[in-house]
Amino acid sequence: MEKQVSFYNTLNRKIETFVPNEDGKVNMYTCGPTVYHFAHIGNLRSYIMEDVLEKTLRYAGYDVKRVMNITDVGHLSSDADTGEDKMLKGAKREHKSVMEIAKYYTDAFFSDCSKLNIKTPDVVEPATNCIDEFIEMVSVLIEKGFAYIAGGNIYFDTSKLDDYYVFSSQNEKELMVGVRDDVEEDTNKRNKSDFVLWFTKSKFDNQELKWDSPWGVGYPGWHLECTGISIKHLGEYMDIHCGGVDNIFPHHTNEIAQSEAYLGHKWCNYWFHVHHLNDKAGKMSKSKGEFLTVSLLEEKGYNPLAYRMFCLQSHYRKPLEFSFENLDNAVNAYDKLLKTVAKLKEDGEVNKEVFAEYKEKFESAISNDLNTSMAITVVYDMLKADVNDVTKLALIKNFDEVLSLDLMALCNKDEIIEELDAELVSFVESKIEERKAAKKDKNFQRADEIRNELLEKGIIIEDTREGVKWKKA
Ligand code: AMP
Ligand code: ZN
Repeated sequence: MEKQVSFYNTLNRKIETFVPNEDGKVNMYTCGPTVYHFAHIGNLRSYIMEDVLEKTLRYAGYDVKRVMNITDVGHLSSDADTGEDKMLKGAKREHKSVMEIAKYYTDAFFSDCSKLNIKTPDVVEPATNCIDEFIEMVSVLIEKGFAYIAGGNIYFDTSKLDDYYVFSSQNEKELMVGVRDDVEEDTNKRNKSDFVLWFTKSKFDNQELKWDSPWGVGYPGWHLECTGISIKHLGEYMDIHCGGVDNIFPHHTNEIAQSEAYLGHKWCNYWFHVHHLNDKAGKMSKSKGEFLTVSLLEEKGYNPLAYRMFCLQSHYRKPLEFSFENLDNAVNAYDKLLKTVAKLKEDGEVNKEVFAEYKEKFESAISNDLNTSMAITVVYDMLKADVNDVTKLALIKNFDEVLSLDLMALCNKDEIIEELDAELVSFVESKIEERKAAKKDKNFQRADEIRNELLEKGIIIEDTREGVKWKKA
């Protein structure tokens, strides 16, 4: 039986206990990267937290199938239906073909993910693999009266829906309906909120990738690809759809509009959104020019997993402020944690009761709206607890299934053992000096305390004629 997991469902604007469509199984979809440039560490914050959600569900006993698209066509430089194709822009910038750009940045994306211990989804599908599926969906939407042809493009008619702005509260809806000032006037549209399902060359004749369709040579709209790819691999009913908060509108709103119109029933029950990583200038974004990547962090000497730790220390529903000072704090905490784990010894037997007690604490933190910082506090508390090292190591291994911080990375490494030994030697020597001084002051109580302190750390001291000697217990 699966353990209970709850998280904030943007659709109902509250934290809900997750109930899948099918017992024990989770259908999960993640909006993938637009591969015209490197992912910045803001994008990767979203993918890290989505990875934690997937692993939390697996940890709770669910069988998860996760699908991700690769946007290699159709995403324009504006969220509206205007502007240049992002892929084409990338290709021009680097004097390469669109498919070369797509391959290069897809590989770079998964290499970054692997450095951050983000699991590759079960299915990864580039949009350009699914053109037939998109065309079939557009045909159905036209047939059902949800789409119309105007100026060579196919538009989704949002006025055909009772509730287009599904993610907004009633007040917000009143303000929004028909407004969308961000959208450049497109005289082909019947309603301002309508969006393109299929572009034809009549609008973008410099498009490199284009396909035959019943409505002319062209290419699919960005929103359509997530609908097409998720239904292709996960069927008509989806449990969880993920993305960054900037995807809520218009991308996810449009996905729901077209998917439910196409299917004729509710599509996805839970919408999980990660808040932004900001820097001093605001939301980190690719269009700003300079942005931080995993490779840049590495060049500056950072272990990418310290960035994962930095993300896990804060809640996914709060904006996170990036600065190198904040990252350095995470680096220090991470290093200390790894060294503490490296000191643990594989001896004795696992204390099953203590194991169950801390597993329960960790589980309840992580399953309660993904409280990752609380889960890390459980790790610290457990490491301080009065229990043998083997139990601690077993718990660390277990927690790392979700945290994926490689917490055992320094265990059994010779240079670390030497470093830890050097640390231990200087610690013991300083304590021996302190004890000598206490004895000289006739403070025998303090001298005994120091002896016991060392004993607790597994160090036995002996007063001999040649002076104080010490050894490991
Ligand atoms: P893109 O490659 O631009 O399509 O974005 C990939 C993912 O990153 C999407 O889920 C976005 O919502 C998310 N995202 C974009 N900017 C940020 C940011 N500054 N912080 C966190 N997530 C972001
Ligand atoms: Zn999407």
